Amino acid sequence: MKTFIYPGSFDPVTNGHLDIILRAAALCDKLIVAVGDNVNKATTFSKQERIELLRTAIGDVSGITVEPLDGLLTDFAKKKNSKTIIKGLRALSDFEYEFQMALLNKILDSEIETLFMMTNVKYSYLSSSAVKELARNAGKIEGLVPESIRDRVLDKFKNCK
Ligand code: ADP
Repeated sequence: MKTFIYPGSFDPVTNGHLDIILRAAALCDKLIVAVGDNVNKATTFSKQERIELLRTAIGDVSGITVEPLDGLLTDFAKKKNSKTIIKGLRALSDFEYEFQMALLNKILDSEIETLFMMTNVKYSYLSSSAVKELARNAGKIEGLVPESIRDRVLDKFKNCK
């Protein structure tokens, strides 16, 4: 049973994330999307909201679960019997941070492998921050986030005003 873990903040999930999720799920028996927090980024959506948005976006695709991530990713991986972390790469700008995290995780647990998946060229420019910037300014987010969560993302910013 091959289990991969795809960690991130998903604040909110975008079509770029979903593309990686579906492609990664096709390479393993079980994909766990692990929703955590990044100390450098305050999130707009609560962890529970981010999990719900991901679950709605993924729908009933089999072999994928969405779970909260608290604490160290390497501890989480061990608990889930996984030795494989999946990360998406958009541009060179992602590389330095991801490189550092992958090496750090390797030091924490030498059995863990981090695999990088290239972005789909259609989504190479897409980030959760870009979606939030557009949504906050009443811009169109069609095609950027899964259709099933679009209204909930827009509503969040309506309520903030
Ligand atoms: P961000 O806040 O930068 O969108 P997340 O922490 O939510 O980042 O991202 C989780 C993972 O998804 C990271 O490995 C990130 O590089 C990857 N990712 C984010 N957006 C895309 C995209 N458009 N295409 C491919 N990978 C992506």
